[in-house]
Amino acid sequence: MLPQTSQEIAASTWSDRFRLDGKVAVVTGASSGLGVAIAQGLAAAGADVAIGARRVEMLEETRALVEELGRRCVAVETDVTKVDDCNRLVEAAVEQLGGCDVLVNNAGIGGEYHAATEDPPDHFRHVVDVNLMGSYWMAQAAGRVMPAGSAVVNLSSVMAVTTAKMPAAGYSAAKAGVLGMTRDLAAQWGEKGIRVNAILPGVFLTEATADYSPNYQARIIKARVPGGRLGDPVEIASTAVFLASPASSYITGVGVPVDGGVLLF
Ligand code: NDP
Repeated sequence: MLPQTSQEIAASTWSDRFRLDGKVAVVTGASSGLGVAIAQGLAAAGADVAIGARRVEMLEETRALVEELGRRCVAVETDVTKVDDCNRLVEAAVEQLGGCDVLVNNAGIGGEYHAATEDPPDHFRHVVDVNLMGSYWMAQAAGRVMPAGSAVVNLSSVMAVTTAKMPAAGYSAAKAGVLGMTRDLAAQWGEKGIRVNAILPGVFLTEATADYSPNYQARIIKARVPGGRLGDPVEIASTAVFLASPASSYITGVGVPVDGGVLLF
């Protein structure tokens, strides 16, 4: 139950507003990278977690990490480009954990670097399919069952609003699409008490960025990151917990950069 008056807020402890006790969270792309940290962060804040991705052995490792934190976890093989898989992941959360209060749409791919004139249509389609459409299928499934007080957190990217001259038109377009979807769902679902926000990560070392050489990392940091370093996945996880929890109860429809200042330039 969210505090509704200043008196009730004063009566609650502040740290409770960052907790997710008794809630059930769904996290896609929890087999590696940021999704693992997000699943752990949500569990540490008190949520039981349903996790989905295609590589089930790696999902099982994440399940063990969540259970070590004392929370229940269900791992479901999920390809977010398949609507039935998305529905099945949310059903597993509802049937095995008792509901769906939080959705973190984290599954994503960077795609390959193709000059626009050489970009194979299937490549562009696939990048949009995973990053944008997959998030929408998951949001549809969750939005059908989420009670008031629920929250959706979508992983966009700083690439939605700037460029790194990769070239990566499909990725930038898909992540910009995620921001548009975030705004529209926030407007549609505000009356239902469901908040929808996005995170715009800067650069974090994960499988997605495994091809960034130390030299390239140093160049990015020097040229683009006032914070002077790459991000730590826990910094995405803590932002996801904030956006999922009552601490952000009056925030909806926005994108939060977590980028060490990349977007200042
Ligand atoms: P990783 O490559 O480490 O992880 C991506 C996750 O997405 C994996 O768990 C992968 O699981 C899953 N995934 C990929 N395709 C599908 C699919 N079709 N169905 C289900 N799951 C899928 O990347 P990150 O952790 O770095 O990225 C997480 C999110 O953050 C992405 O949306 C990414 O675009 C975004 N982001 C990351 C940045 C960074 O610097 N790392 C910067 C900006 C945004 P599996 O292969 O097992 O299916």
